[in-house]
Amino acid sequence: MIEIENPNSISMRKKIAIAVHGGAGTILRNSCTKEQEKLYKEKMRESIDAGYSILKNGGNSVDAVEAAIIIMENSPLFNAGKGSVYTHEGTHEMDAAIMNGKNLEIGAVAGISKIKNPISLAKLVLLKSEHVLLFGKGAEKFAKLNSMKWVNRKYFHDEKRFEQLQKIKQTQKTQLDHSVCDSKEHNSHKYGTVGAVALDCFGNIAAATSTGGMTNKTFGRVGDSPIIGSGTYANNKTCAVSCTGHGEYFIKNIAAYDVSALMEYKKMSLDDSANLVINDKLAKQGASGGLIAIDANGNIAMPFNTMGMYRGYKNCHGKEFLAIFKD
Ligand code: ASP
Repeated sequence: MIEIENPNSISMRKKIAIAVHGGAGTILRNSCTKEQEKLYKEKMRESIDAGYSILKNGGNSVDAVEAAIIIMENSPLFNAGKGSVYTHEGTHEMDAAIMNGKNLEIGAVAGISKIKNPISLAKLVLLKSEHVLLFGKGAEKFAKLNSMKWVNRKYFHDEKRFEQLQKIKQTQKTQLDHSVCDSKEHNSHKYGTVGAVALDCFGNIAAATSTGGMTNKTFGRVGDSPIIGSGTYANNKTCAVSCTGHGEYFIKNIAAYDVSALMEYKKMSLDDSANLVINDKLAKQGASGGLIAIDANGNIAMPFNTMGMYRGYKNCHGKEFLAIFKD
């Protein structure tokens, strides 16, 4: 007779873990008040808890990373969903992706402006579309056909984010969300791309990333987050990765997949692979950013080459960790 195992008993026996990030950049301790630090950490803890409780109840890693991202997308603290940055034209164009390391299934969306939770639309693409990446109006039509609600563009408006755009609008520069820590007041409105990686009790890993992109980006610009292999990647054989930073460099370097490839072909550890990509390869090119990664053994790596990265995890020993600054 075949015994059917209760998922709860599996989770008691098998490792589960989750890690999240809320963006990397010039995040300096002396330009962040204790209250702001607390706000960010509380939100990341909420995000970790949302994902972890799914894992603890025998849920899968894809659902866990989606749940973790939704918490951060719904918060104006981060550059995703509600807190997304403005394009040069004063609009919002959001990107998101989710990947299942068990079977390499992918769902990604780009140039989204009407969907409250782009990560849920990405998951819908993973579950219901024969394609893997949908863009703009087509992606939103797909959302509507599948009964996903549209929100008014006013939902994404944030006065401080709008000011942030006005400050660099006349330049030809785009700006990483966390790269302008010039005052305490200003810093209270820095937001970051968000990401999550998780290991479930079945031994499967998943990755998800969601972003508003870079302030002052030209309309139509797509960053690394929804480009599988660049900003997001997951494969049970190696690791699940979510990146944050200057997207163009992460695309050129196929950064997330590079971590996986170093593990697969060079048999390097998760930590060494992730560090090599961020602190050697990308750093030498002047590419700022970081990533979070997990492997099927529950190891977690969180390298970044910027002054800070909003980051946290609950690992397979139940240990919790939350941090923002480098030191
Ligand atoms: N990687 C994102 C992009 O280039 C930005 C970020 O990580 O904040 O779209």
